[in-house]
Amino acid sequence: NFRCRSAFKLLEIDDQFRLLQPGHSVVDCGAAPGAWSQVAVQRVNSAGTDPELPRGTVVGIDLLHIPPLDGAHFLSCHDATDAATQARLLELLPAGRAHVILSDMAPNASGFRDLDHEKLVTMCLSLIDLAEKALLPGGALLCKYWDGALAHSLQARLCGMFGNVRSLKPDASRKDSAERYFLARVYREPAR
Ligand code: SAM
Repeated sequence: NFRCRSAFKLLEIDDQFRLLQPGHSVVDCGAAPGAWSQVAVQRVNSAGTDPELPRGTVVGIDLLHIPPLDGAHFLSCHDATDAATQARLLELLPAGRAHVILSDMAPNASGFRDLDHEKLVTMCLSLIDLAEKALLPGGALLCKYWDGALAHSLQARLCGMFGNVRSLKPDASRKDSAERYFLARVYREPAR
């Protein structure tokens, strides 16, 4: 009873890496229709389903409408790459910080593979800006990208900010698609 099959990609990654712990604060970028948020709500206990465990927070953002979900706060019709949205988001997070930023965002594909790749890399760069504002030290960023020429420079940026960065292709992701995910863990806050 997930809203979309994409839930299985996040379940698979989280079963392997245990990113989402009870009590955690999670941002879900490109959240519509809400399947990743459903997974996050269960795993961080943001609906308070298990009263014995700490209660987490899930905030989802999408350009589209996201149908309501118990345990999640949604910013529907918002652009996650926009500075005003990111400021609004910080207000919704406890102490303005997140343990995990998830992004399954993708632009509408033009069909031109290089152009689509570049667009999505640009979106990933704005997630890096968000991470610098919102992530707790030790936190994680999981973001979708389409493989291509700029993937290495994106990975290098992440390696400068996180202790551990890897590229993943979940079994649940279609083999014939260029879709992959960067999982960047152990965020190191820059010295100020
Ligand atoms: N993870 C979602 C789920 O499990 O239900 C599916 C996400 S879908 C593959 C990608 C989403 O990214 C689309 O709903 C699209 O509207 C959204 N998106 C694309 N660009 C965006 C942006 N700049 N800000 C917010 N959402 C965006």
